[in-house]
Amino acid sequence: MTRFLLAGAGVAALAATAGLAAEATVQNPLLAPWTGPYGGIPPFDKVKVEHFAPALEVAMAEQLAEVDKIAAEPAPPTFANTLAALERSGRTLERVATIFGVYSSTMSTPDFQKVEEDMAPRLAAFSDRITQNEKLFKRIADVYESREAAGLAPEQKRLAWLDYTNFVRAGARLDPAAKKRMSEINQRLATLYTKFSQNLLADETDYVLFLDQESDLAGLPDSLRAAAAAAAEQRGQKGKWAVLNTRSSMEPFLTYSDRRDLREKVWRTYYSRGDHGDAKDNNALITEILKLRAERAKLLGYQTHAHWRLENSMARTPERAMELMEAVWKPAVARVREEVADMQAVADKEGAKIKIEPWDYRYYAEKVRKAKYDLDQNEVKPYLQLEKLREGMFWVAGQLFGFNFSPVDGVPVYNPDMRVYNVTDPSGKLVGLWYFDPYARPGKQSGAWMNAYRSQERFDRDITTIVSNNTNFVKGKPGEPILISWDDANALFHEFGHALHGLNSNVSYPSLSGTAVPRDYVEFPSQILERWLSTPEVLNRFALHHQTGQPIPPELVQRIERAATFNQGFTTVEYLASALVDMKLHLAGERTIDPDAFERDTLKALGMPSEIVMRHRTPQFSHAFSGDGYSAGYYSYLWSDTLSADAWEAFTEANGPYDKAVAKRLRDAVFSAGNTVDPAEAYRAFRGRDPGIAALMRKRGFPAPGEGQAAQ
Ligand SMILES: [Zn+2]
Repeated sequence: MTRFLLAGAGVAALAATAGLAAEATVQNPLLAPWTGPYGGIPPFDKVKVEHFAPALEVAMAEQLAEVDKIAAEPAPPTFANTLAALERSGRTLERVATIFGVYSSTMSTPDFQKVEEDMAPRLAAFSDRITQNEKLFKRIADVYESREAAGLAPEQKRLAWLDYTNFVRAGARLDPAAKKRMSEINQRLATLYTKFSQNLLADETDYVLFLDQESDLAGLPDSLRAAAAAAAEQRGQKGKWAVLNTRSSMEPFLTYSDRRDLREKVWRTYYSRGDHGDAKDNNALITEILKLRAERAKLLGYQTHAHWRLENSMARTPERAMELMEAVWKPAVARVREEVADMQAVADKEGAKIKIEPWDYRYYAEKVRKAKYDLDQNEVKPYLQLEKLREGMFWVAGQLFGFNFSPVDGVPVYNPDMRVYNVTDPSGKLVGLWYFDPYARPGKQSGAWMNAYRSQERFDRDITTIVSNNTNFVKGKPGEPILISWDDANALFHEFGHALHGLNSNVSYPSLSGTAVPRDYVEFPSQILERWLSTPEVLNRFALHHQTGQPIPPELVQRIERAATFNQGFTTVEYLASALVDMKLHLAGERTIDPDAFERDTLKALGMPSEIVMRHRTPQFSHAFSGDGYSAGYYSYLWSDTLSADAWEAFTEANGPYDKAVAKRLRDAVFSAGNTVDPAEAYRAFRGRDPGIAALMRKRGFPAPGEGQAAQ
């Protein structure tokens, strides 16, 4: 029952569709159990958009029937007849919802969006029907309360706690009127979240800047010009150059373009997404989302939405999350002042006669990087071939965890560019499958992410996991290597860290499996994995020049290392500004909020440097408004980075990044444990103590704090 608390569903049509279940299964490939090798694989080759709505209806009805049976069980409640039975329930919905999610993030066509809009509130209502089932909740509560007397194993006790807490947190103890209101709120929110995401996707797709003169390209490296020409041609404007309204187009343009007027234009377009005052404007949606979230938190007995969201996180309270953010904010802003002074000096020397504005930051930062560290990102790029780095990640997984990756053919994929690898342990036993969807295309969400198609479990029988990594690299010409930036290489390793978190999972119950851990802990395995990219072992073997095949020169690696904390003021402040605004929006309670004014006032009060803008401005902040997931949770990246910086030093204090004993501890305590133990305890089991903030400050090159600012 891993997903039903997230998913959610329509009531009226369910009874009618249930009778058609058997017939529908024959015709609808989404409903059939996954067949084929590796314990069954997703039938991507058979799925069509029109399959989703009927499959979701049937699968929801099936799970409701399963849950009703568990609730009506005549025997007294036990772990086996209640919680284990719930783990077994909803298998069909899990499979359908997984593929539904894959379409939503990678193949969001207009006809799919229509289905998504219809289904979002129905799934929300479905979820509430289960958490509001009184007989079921009574049985879960009984099992939870008698967990010690019943002699449950530690993992079973953890599951009992999680199920009980999740039900209570979803409103299981509310009176009928409050439950009804709760469900109305959840359904309305589901619709608003879908609308928010679709508006944002539309603003990213619809605003394209076409350049038609060579002089508009001043400063851009050849690779960028070629990509912009290809992007224009794909959009029917052959002979022009297109700057897309996505991060991966905006960032390099602002870094290299000598044309200040065009930099400003590209910057303004990107940071106005969702904020155009037109039909796709997100501000009114945000106001309503915040109001409903505040009302829901109050119904549930919490001070604010942030208090509700953080209760089961590692931070536990918004105050502790704020404390960490505030400890880092001041040194980060101080560093920005230094960075701006360096950039202003370069601009003055050039006789540019400007004051550094947000659309100048990346451009002049690049000049400072060259002047101060003799490092040009274009000098590094020829050594960063996507496929070689992928081999490097596989090699790291072999060194740390003994995994072996080999490509497999004949597994259905939803796009011909996708590849599938099977993963085995040193004894040759199957660990799982890894799918890789590398390239950008219309209808695919921007950014990079990991997704679990199936979670590992073994309480009835061994089920191996299936995970995927998704990125948005620009596809090159056939046979040409794809060269990526240093930042993109980091992102590649980051997402692979999430995949390894899933692949290492070794737990009994699917609800506790792999990456099903609190938000502020889930980024720890992914962030620490980034660190292996810059180890000499990886760079010497896998950072090979695309023409000569020569490894990256050690002297260049040294320059990269020296520049490791370069521009950390910018990176930290643009991130923290978003994280702080996210938290403050969700601490504000039930008053009506004008998002633009709130953002402006909050940043002013924080002393936001005028040369930087939030990484995600409020009208485009998907983390906060396309679902509950990262709402009041964007701080999680900093929290997790505190752990990853501190954990990395466990390696450097021992025999280095490939120390087998430390790697084994990391695997045993963190990567394989899923949510079977409290994250704070898991961390102590790995490190022998709580984490501190000092390693994080060292990593970012900020002055060390006084002791006692434990971030734990
Ligand atoms: Zn991540």
